Amino acid sequence: MVALPKQLSQSEGLSAPQKALKKMGLIRDIDLALHLPMRYEDETFITPLANALEGEIVHFYAEIVRQEVSYKPKRQLIVQVRELVYPNISNNKEEPVVEPTQGEMCTLRFFNFYASLQKTMAVGQRVRLRGECRGGLLGKTLMHPSIYAWNTELPKTLTPKYSTVAGLPQTYLRRAVMGALERSIRREEMKETIPKALLKPGSWSLVQSVKFLHQPDPHVSVLELADKSHPAWCRLKAEELLAQQLSQLKAKHERSAMKALKLEGLNQGLTTAFFASLPFKLTRAQLRVVDEIAEDLRGETPMYRLLQGDVGSGKTVVAALAATQCIDSGYQCALMAPTEILVDQHFQKMMDWLAPLVEAQNRFVVRLMGSQKKKERDAMLEMIRDGRAALVVGTHAVIQDSVHFDSLGLVVIDEQHRFGVAQRIALRDKTNKATHTSAKQEEFKHALEPHLLMMSATPIPRTLAMSYYADLDISTLDELPAGRTPVVTKLLSEERRGDVVHRIQAQIKEGRQVYWVCPLIEESEALDLTNAVQTHNDLRLALPGINVGLLHSKMPAQEKKEVMQAFKQGHTGVLVSTTVIEVGVDVPNASLMVIEHAERFGLSQLHQLRGRVGRGSAASACVLLYSTPEHGRLSQSARDRLKAMVQTQDGFEIAKRDLEIRGPGEFLGARQSGAAMLRFADLSTDQVWLDWARVSAPKMLEAYPELVQEHVARWLGSKEQFLKA
Ligand code: ADP
Ligand code: MG
Repeated sequence: MVALPKQLSQSEGLSAPQKALKKMGLIRDIDLALHLPMRYEDETFITPLANALEGEIVHFYAEIVRQEVSYKPKRQLIVQVRELVYPNISNNKEEPVVEPTQGEMCTLRFFNFYASLQKTMAVGQRVRLRGECRGGLLGKTLMHPSIYAWNTELPKTLTPKYSTVAGLPQTYLRRAVMGALERSIRREEMKETIPKALLKPGSWSLVQSVKFLHQPDPHVSVLELADKSHPAWCRLKAEELLAQQLSQLKAKHERSAMKALKLEGLNQGLTTAFFASLPFKLTRAQLRVVDEIAEDLRGETPMYRLLQGDVGSGKTVVAALAATQCIDSGYQCALMAPTEILVDQHFQKMMDWLAPLVEAQNRFVVRLMGSQKKKERDAMLEMIRDGRAALVVGTHAVIQDSVHFDSLGLVVIDEQHRFGVAQRIALRDKTNKATHTSAKQEEFKHALEPHLLMMSATPIPRTLAMSYYADLDISTLDELPAGRTPVVTKLLSEERRGDVVHRIQAQIKEGRQVYWVCPLIEESEALDLTNAVQTHNDLRLALPGINVGLLHSKMPAQEKKEVMQAFKQGHTGVLVSTTVIEVGVDVPNASLMVIEHAERFGLSQLHQLRGRVGRGSAASACVLLYSTPEHGRLSQSARDRLKAMVQTQDGFEIAKRDLEIRGPGEFLGARQSGAAMLRFADLSTDQVWLDWARVSAPKMLEAYPELVQEHVARWLGSKEQFLKA
């Protein structure tokens, strides 16, 4: 049992376990009742010490013979016990009444212990013990066994083991759950919300399932419990998948009841001129996606679309074409990106592409970000308010309260997965209420909602999209522009650094440019920085006569901008950088990407970084430098990630493997929220139930709207908004 420091448990008047419950979000009775076990242990019978093999679970009565605190090799409590064998107890759960005979001796070891344990284990006391039997110098040994009072009955059901946190012992949690379960059932909080007509025949009821899962009969198939194929688990999977679908379907319905500006692009001037001035032909995929978006924009229901396309597939030009349609309709467009570097890049591109054309109509492309001087910012705000700003490129500064649009028709969010969950929620709320100042508001007599286009280079695997993004329309760029040569990916050990430097020289000689990405040191941003500075110095010495630039997140915005500009214009041969260049940066002349300590990066991140090269027609390469830890080898998942990088360049395949390695929680980046994740269903095995939920949700919303609310509230409670972010 873990005790917390006094002052902690006394504050707020909650005990340590109560606080821990709160921290886990187990607040209402229904939350506790639905906190289902992770696994089970069968403690319904006694297994004596005699003949127990190494690693086997033993469960026996014992009397304490000796107790000692030892400090070698570290502080521990060592307890000697003698097994007590009751002739009348086998597997039939009778109480120990007859005098026992003495069995074997056994040693118990506890590394974390409190005075209370020493009291329980006082010499002469009798207890029931359960744990894994190990051999050892002192004969049979149990480490940290479970300890039960000697005279309690053996359990009659499997013992549930719940996921828990420090300060919340299993026994406390189990009692809390059982109490809450009883109250929830009594108060009918677990009455059926899924109409019988929608359930598969033979389904268990919710109450029956939940009761069973907290206290399963010991004769149940352990396998069915463990792999969650038991009917009781199936019912819970159905419950939560349906809640997820319903919540999104509801959001979709709410949105379709809202009105947006129709962006008919009647005066086609800008769009036509832009098309004519493009230095390349759009790919078939780009043309198709441009059409899909254009169709949405012409409608009066707000668009809610995700554009996914691998790195380098050309999403920016698609965004620009959506913007021209909006501007041609006389309205404003906002283009948002997660970093200032990316905002600068987009701004320059939009200026190149659109500014001359827009300015001919006395409208402008403007930029808005946090690092701007007040005077400049005020000027921008003014232009946004009076409508002269046709296109606003910015960081999330664009959606701050001080920003008022004259007539915002479209919001494009680039690299949307890079915005945090909370930011995404704020963003959605803000775009929902984008302030319109002009008379156009009057025209429609509605709160107007801008169309929303989100873009992401991390494709969402199909099942995940069907489950978590069911309310989104998805467009996919599944084709790269012609003439791209695949990036050759090489895995090199850190010792080959010298060879890499030679390679850099060769690239520079050919007029190409190189990125060098420094290791990611999660524990310390300061260390991160020292590292980049050090590498920058080393490379400068190793590459005389070559301009080596340095870029990191701690630099003032202005300096960052200058460094990026020098690299874009080819003044710098090598750019040493932390991961600030991860997303979106586009310098087609760069042909070599070196990633140091590649084993520390996530798979999607590596793929994004590699995507910075191979954007022009030159043959490009990506070198993944890895170093093995001093003793031992790379972790399995590090090896999986590096292997995947060498084996494939396909963003969809990478996303699939990333999902396999990390699981959906981390993959979707919703881990902090924790909330919206599926707890029971596993999308890799539960496609049938997902399909069932997708078919059932619309029927339920149609025929049983009053049950929908109840069902969603039970399963998602306040967490619902996370699902929509
Ligand atoms: P991403 O989808 O990763 O955001 P970008 O929009 O940055 O990709 O495009 C990558 C590069 O490809 C840019 O330099 C862009 O100008 C260029 N590009 C986009 N579409 C085409 C095309 N159809 N043909 C040739 N080059 C293109
Ligand atoms: Mg991009």
